[in-house]
Amino acid sequence: MTRIEQLCADKGLRMTEQRRVIARVLSEAQDHPDAEELYRRAAAIDPHISIATVYRTVKLFEDAGILERHDFRDGRSRYEEVPDSHHDHLIDLQTGRVIEFRNEDIERLQRLIAEELGFELVDHRLELYGVPRGSKKSGH
Ligand SMILES: [Zn+2]
Repeated sequence: MTRIEQLCADKGLRMTEQRRVIARVLSEAQDHPDAEELYRRAAAIDPHISIATVYRTVKLFEDAGILERHDFRDGRSRYEEVPDSHHDHLIDLQTGRVIEFRNEDIERLQRLIAEELGFELVDHRLELYGVPRGSKKSGH
């Protein structure tokens, strides 16, 4: 059983065979796929799965707190299993590649900023957008 399947079981979600296939595809993904990419991978395993089922299932998993949805500014929602430990993302604007990182200085600074504003930090999202150093930037 994959971790997502286990989480679904813990939350009492009814698992159909198609949901299981989608859960497996999500568990194996390392690249924050969007629904269409998930559909391609799931349909390769079970050709009876429809794109509508994929959309419904990711929504169900997201609502259950099993999946995290990201908007990396390319107009598509991307999904990943809710991670065990927090990480942030850097997005390569040329290729769309998503790189995960964690930086303790940033984590500490964010807590500090919240504290100075009179808050206790409970969550944050940080996305960096970049192009590989040395590559041509548009315009100049
Ligand atoms: Zn991630």
